[in-house]
Amino acid sequence: MTSPTTETAGSPRAPGTCYADAAAFRSALLDAGLLVPTAATGLYQRSGDFEDAVRAVEAWAGSLRLDAYPRRSLPPILPRADFLQTDYLRSFPDLAGIVSVFTGGDAEHRALLEDLDAGGNGSTVLEPAETVLSSAVCHSVYPTLDPAIPDEGLRLEASGFAFRHEPSLDPVRMQSFRMLEHVCVGTPAQAEAHRDVWLPRMAEGLGSLGLDVRIEAANDPFFGRVGRMLAANQQQASLKHELVVDIHDEKPTAIGSTNYHEDHFSVLFDLTTPDGNLAHSGCAAFGLERIALALLSRHGLEPGHWPTEVRRELG
Ligand code: AMP
Ligand code: ZN
Repeated sequence: MTSPTTETAGSPRAPGTCYADAAAFRSALLDAGLLVPTAATGLYQRSGDFEDAVRAVEAWAGSLRLDAYPRRSLPPILPRADFLQTDYLRSFPDLAGIVSVFTGGDAEHRALLEDLDAGGNGSTVLEPAETVLSSAVCHSVYPTLDPAIPDEGLRLEASGFAFRHEPSLDPVRMQSFRMLEHVCVGTPAQAEAHRDVWLPRMAEGLGSLGLDVRIEAANDPFFGRVGRMLAANQQQASLKHELVVDIHDEKPTAIGSTNYHEDHFSVLFDLTTPDGNLAHSGCAAFGLERIALALLSRHGLEPGHWPTEVRRELG
């Protein structure tokens, strides 16, 4: 694949081409003012055009729903106790984000000021809050469900922010991003059917936006030596698939995924089907910024000039 030349960096690229590397794509996005970098690597403010594109992608991803099931918009934080129960911190300690708060009185305030005056960051005085940053949108949903899952299974759409501590200069790897997920909790057959329906549906939908997506068997980045085993098991059991595109030539980028959790969340939150068995769950997740970035890479850095079919598809 070839990269757009400097002169044409903001233009739509020819089919089969993409940016040479992450740095070239990042420079193009920053030069166009679509993303505004901050002092933290991988944390960006978004221009109005970028935000409009993300919101259009969000509405589009929701519109692919099969039934009129409920929609939920989630805050970027969740109760710490729920988070600990999901095992995210055990499996991905390197990605998680914990919130600290001040709960002291005058004496602690004095200590805080002394710490800050001495160049500290307050961590000697601050305490873990009862909330933490959300890492994956659907994880916040399971603890809030009525554990009695109905006969026909439960489906809902959830969208919101995710935080992952993976600072990177690759603009597709952000610390704060959004996802929209179509979630299913039901019998194993219902949860598997959800995956089997959504995987081709996502590929087809993303294809209709002019993106050349491939479906790949995948695994989550479980931490450490034990994590390598968990990742291999996940691959072997075909529990995760990713929808992958070439945004830049450095490596392919996942812009969506389907995840089949078996009874992982049901064991933790007692989710039970009417036959008395533990429910199974699964989700189809659209990475909203990454889809917007794939569109910017594919169709050019000016959303107003994207092909008419793409703009019509995005509503
Ligand atoms: P995952 O739960 O890892 O499958 O994430 C769901 C989707 O979120 C992925 O398919 C990506 O499109 C998106 N995503 C994951 N990590 C990031 C990140 N660091 N920055 C932007 N988008 C991400
Ligand atoms: Zn999910």
